[in-house]
Amino acid sequence: MHLLQCGAIRDEYEALFNAVSSTLSTAIDKHLLASVTDPDGVIVAVSQAFCDLSGYRASELIGHNYHLLRHPSMADDVYARLWSSITTRGYWRGELKNRTKGGDFYWVMTEINAVKDNDGNTIGYIAVHQDITDFKQQEKLSITDPLTRAYNRRYYEQIMPKELARARRDRMQLAFMMVDADHFKRYNDTYGHQAGDGVIKAIVDGMRAVFRRPSDSVFRLGGEEFAALYRVNDDTTAFRLAERVRQVVYDGAIEHSGNAPDYRVTVSIGLIVIPPDRQLDVGDIYKYSDIALYNAKEQGRNRVTLHREDETDIELF
Ligand code: GH3
Ligand code: MG
Ligand code: MG
Repeated sequence: MHLLQCGAIRDEYEALFNAVSSTLSTAIDKHLLASVTDPDGVIVAVSQAFCDLSGYRASELIGHNYHLLRHPSMADDVYARLWSSITTRGYWRGELKNRTKGGDFYWVMTEINAVKDNDGNTIGYIAVHQDITDFKQQEKLSITDPLTRAYNRRYYEQIMPKELARARRDRMQLAFMMVDADHFKRYNDTYGHQAGDGVIKAIVDGMRAVFRRPSDSVFRLGGEEFAALYRVNDDTTAFRLAERVRQVVYDGAIEHSGNAPDYRVTVSIGLIVIPPDRQLDVGDIYKYSDIALYNAKEQGRNRVTLHREDETDIELF
């Protein structure tokens, strides 16, 4: 067997090919990110390149389940699909976020093939990886608002249709809330734009403190307009979380002399709960939560208003 494609081998080159194959093996070990597991996912061999990337010595990986490498932020369903695909089709390709020994992370594009014996039984799996960490970081930058580190509008547009489809498929209820700072123009006029930017950051930090699950998303949709998308079991939970955002901002007690009656920074929130059987598209959800937000403003600001099917929005708290 040769490691290069060399066509029909002429006898005179046999020795040459044999000689370079060991150089090639060394080069592969050094440069190719590869790992081999047994049928249960226990690592039995790794390349030096893979050890270098993961920060482990080969002896620290061999004998351990592949899950040792998994980053805690990776969703279970990715691994469930991976496992189902390699056991049924003998193949999987996809992106994985792994954790290095030192606690850092890296992303790999991984291609896994089942290795079979002559009787067709799976005797293990070989995974070849490509380091895509830089690419993922670039990708993350392109969907992140630089001021707040929330997702930007571009990501909102990308992810919303996908999340709606997923929630429908998994028969999950989604909640979407739109958040807008109250009398923010006056804030800028009084305290300056830079101080205003600080408030924008504080509002997003408050939202992120409330929405911490991997399935929650916090967006900055525009200047001082934000949104969150999150999974809920019922309307009450949806309200409670929206109300918590309102309260967190209120409790931040940032002075705002133009915002009566409390003279501190507050937000108004328009909320919509989307049952899986309701065929709402992204535009509908935006429109209805925006109407609910408008009603929250009309009813006095610093409040959460839920959009109702019958279009009479109700105010809570
Ligand atoms: P309302 O309570 O009705 O929402 O009143 P508002 O003054 O907040 O009205 P609106 O939401 O329309 O105001 C948007 C203002 O937010 C305009 C601008 O002064 C300010 N703003 C928008 N984007 C930014 C930003 O990126 N930084 C800062 N500091 N201010 C912004
Ligand atoms: Mg606004
Ligand atoms: Mg506003």
